[in-house]
Amino acid sequence: MAEDIARLLADIRACRVCAPHLPFAPRPVLHISPTARLLIASQAPGTKAHDAGISFFDASGDRLRAWLNMDRGEFYDGARVAIVPAGMCYPGRLASGGDAPPRPECAPLWRARILAALPAIRLTLLVGGYAQNLVLGPGKMTERVRDFRRFLPHYFPLPHPSWRTGAWERANPWFGELVLPALRKNVAEAFG
Ligand code: SF4
Repeated sequence: MAEDIARLLADIRACRVCAPHLPFAPRPVLHISPTARLLIASQAPGTKAHDAGISFFDASGDRLRAWLNMDRGEFYDGARVAIVPAGMCYPGRLASGGDAPPRPECAPLWRARILAALPAIRLTLLVGGYAQNLVLGPGKMTERVRDFRRFLPHYFPLPHPSWRTGAWERANPWFGELVLPALRKNVAEAFG
């Protein structure tokens, strides 16, 4: 039986495990519903998602929505789409630039309970290397995306849709030609 979502969300929002390592007070950002068919397993919120309390509330979200051919209404339809990062609080910046990786404490603590509360998921998008490694074990992002068929019908690996991925897309034209049409077809089937 699926766990009560309200109680689970209350427990997650009270979590302070990573507080000593975070730049701001913990603010887990996730979207879950027992009726969701599609799970977007992502990395960690950025600053805009942290401020808004809404996942992919930035240019990365615009790119991901373009890949999925979804408008914001479809993307944030919580009855159909769940969004759960590997680390649910904004992790801060690396000294070398860029966002820090997802907090490693988060998935072992929460992921099993969250998945148990999502009994209707048909397809999980593994967005970015961290999400892929969490579910599939260590591996190479580009190879996994190119071999996406290997992970169907349960998983669909994708790059992280950050601005850096624009250059990656230009270097890997098969992504737009082969992967994105298959992505849209499999997402439509998950909703079907
Ligand atoms: S990242 Fe996860 S484990 Fe860490 S404080 Fe936030 S909810 Fe808790």
